[in-house]
Amino acid sequence: MKDVADQRPEAPGGTTRTDHPAEHRVEVTERGSFSFARCDCGWFAPGRRSRDKSRRDAAEHLAEHGG
Ligand SMILES: [Zn+2]
Repeated sequence: MKDVADQRPEAPGGTTRTDHPAEHRVEVTERGSFSFARCDCGWFAPGRRSRDKSRRDAAEHLAEHGG
C-alpha cells in the first residue's frame, strides 16, 4: 500500500546564502601581553598569552572552513 504522495519543496526561495565573505582572513592582534586571532567573517578567538597560540587558533579556524 503506497498512496502517500506528500512532496513539498524543502526550502521556499531556493538558494540559502549567508553574508559570509568568500575568504577568511585571520589577523593576530596584540594587546598588552595578550594576543587575539580574529577573522573577517566575524569569528574571533579568546585572548592568548602567547602569539603562537593565537596563530594556532587562526590556523584551526582556517582549517575548519576548508582553507
Ligand atoms: Zn573566518
